Amino acid sequence: MAKQTNPKPQPSNGKPNSSPGRSPSWLLYILLALLLGQAVFYFNGSHAEEISWSRFKQEMLGNGDVYKIEVINQQRAEIYIKSEALAGSRYPEIDSSQAGPHFAFNIGSLDNFQETLEANQETTGNPIDLAFRERTDWVGNILSWMLPILIIVGIWVFILRRMRPGGGMGGGGGNIFDMGKSKAKLFEKGSSDVTFKDVAGLEEVKVEVKEVVDFLKNPSRYTKLGAKIPKGVLLIGPPGTGKTLLARAVAGQAEVPFYSISGSEFVEMFVGVGASRARDLFKKAKQNSPSIIFIDEIDAIGRSRGKSAAMQANDERENTLNQILTEMDGFGTNTGVIVMAATNRGDVLDRALLRPGRFDRQIYLELPTRSERKAILEVHTQPLALSDDIDLETLAAQTPGFSGADIANLCNEAALIAARRSKEQVEMKDFYDATDRVIGGLEKKSKIISGSEKKVIAHHEAGHATASWFLKHADNLLKVSIVPRGRSLGAAWYLPQEHVIYNTDQFMDRICTALGGRAAEEIIFGKVSSGALDDLEKVTKQAYTMVAYYGLNKKLGNISYYDSTGQSEQSLHKPYSEATAQIIDEEVHKLVETAYQRTVNLLRDHRGQLEELAQLLLNKEVAFKDDLVAIFGERTQEVEA
Ligand code: ATP
Repeated sequence: MAKQTNPKPQPSNGKPNSSPGRSPSWLLYILLALLLGQAVFYFNGSHAEEISWSRFKQEMLGNGDVYKIEVINQQRAEIYIKSEALAGSRYPEIDSSQAGPHFAFNIGSLDNFQETLEANQETTGNPIDLAFRERTDWVGNILSWMLPILIIVGIWVFILRRMRPGGGMGGGGGNIFDMGKSKAKLFEKGSSDVTFKDVAGLEEVKVEVKEVVDFLKNPSRYTKLGAKIPKGVLLIGPPGTGKTLLARAVAGQAEVPFYSISGSEFVEMFVGVGASRARDLFKKAKQNSPSIIFIDEIDAIGRSRGKSAAMQANDERENTLNQILTEMDGFGTNTGVIVMAATNRGDVLDRALLRPGRFDRQIYLELPTRSERKAILEVHTQPLALSDDIDLETLAAQTPGFSGADIANLCNEAALIAARRSKEQVEMKDFYDATDRVIGGLEKKSKIISGSEKKVIAHHEAGHATASWFLKHADNLLKVSIVPRGRSLGAAWYLPQEHVIYNTDQFMDRICTALGGRAAEEIIFGKVSSGALDDLEKVTKQAYTMVAYYGLNKKLGNISYYDSTGQSEQSLHKPYSEATAQIIDEEVHKLVETAYQRTVNLLRDHRGQLEELAQLLLNKEVAFKDDLVAIFGERTQEVEA
């Protein structure tokens, strides 16, 4: 595992960090102390027994036991009882040695209270020492204005704790003041264990990327000839083609500090944070040069400025991008910092990023070829216990369109399937099943399909199979199945040929194969179903690209409305007139109709074989190559895969 160091700022003076996280506890202590004070000072006479007005009047006043009354704040009376009365039996609850006040009660109306006392004095002649006192509840007063402040401060502290980078929302430390610091992970020298050997295939790409390592290790080799060392290398390619893996290999082999960050990590909900993080990242990289900065998914910040998907400017992202552009301009070609970036949306990147002097090198990665897939399979089957029947060559041939990540997933899936079957080794069958699963999704044998629907599905799939078998340019058919998988109810599995260019005949044969299902339904049942949705979607798109993009339509001529800059995606206007739009629609319609009629005719000619295959599917659910050969005979126009 790579050792990762998060370059988080440390307190420089060695004093403990007084983070806002601790403030609530001392605030709490102060609050408690104040409450205690309140208890001590305000309820000074709290040992006084609480009594009722009637007991006071009848028992105490009536018997002449009271010698002193203190009225506090004109509200509360504190009663002092004569010691001889306490010594008697009337007040067993009070210890005779206890100093007053002995009893207390709330007087209610002061006038009434005074009148009662005066009346009592007149009748009994017993003098009572009556005093009025003010007692200030200063703690209560302070609390009444402090409490709201404390609550506001508490809420503020809580919000600050939630806002700190990585805080509150899972892991991380630091505080609000770290917000503008870069969150890049630092891979120290030799801490990444990925090497170029782990990256299979991609030979030309590896040569380019290895050079980056060499620039940093031996800069003089280039500079002594007057060459300038590139500042940036941009890896562009579809998802899972090994861009991040390549960067990790560079980190492992360059033996220089490697800062890795994802484009989305620059941008926070606060304005200015992204630019500040970019500044901080470049500063750290320069301090530790020679070093490499790797920005994954750079399209998160590097999209063309002034052009946003939601048609609204995203200033924060633009500020961050501007800062990165400035930083890349800011350091000289020989400062020893190389920026690597990866994206799978090269088309949306700002052109300023792509100009020489910034990302001087742009390396395009593509989906692996057959031989590259074999090499990737070799890497990923290395840790597996494989049986002797494993043929990586065949597997590589059967996985066209798979990315490196797909192949890694396939190997893992095969091992899981073998484990589920309690096998000691992973066999070829496990790989086949894993391929089916990766391509088609999970098998859903439990899905309930009625007999008549099953019949339609069987004939639909048999239609695809029959059409592909007799069309010259159709892909080689491997097997046909009517077992529901993922979202599909049945499937025909092909071994696609890997062409780089296609001609009209090849396109037409593909369209006819896709229409085979619907044509079979019409021929056999005289009516069609909704089961051809996927096929029709594919066919329509294909026909539109032929007419509007590839210039393969005679009426429209050699014209392409394709826009490689991706700007048309945001535009509301079409690049052609209404009249042209109508021609495109008509031509697409004509093309699909011609293909359909051709397919219907082909399937009519082979109706017997089609029905035979459908029957076999209804009985066995799956038909393999041997079954197909038995029904259709050897495929004469079998194309070299
Ligand atoms: P994304 O654009 O989605 O980030 P990526 O191009 O960065 O994709 P990686 O993360 O590099 O793709 O690849 C994913 C996984 O696929 C790797 O961890 C590795 O297991 C496997 N893989 C991809 N390409 C290769 C390759 N050439 N050799 C070996 N393994 C590969």
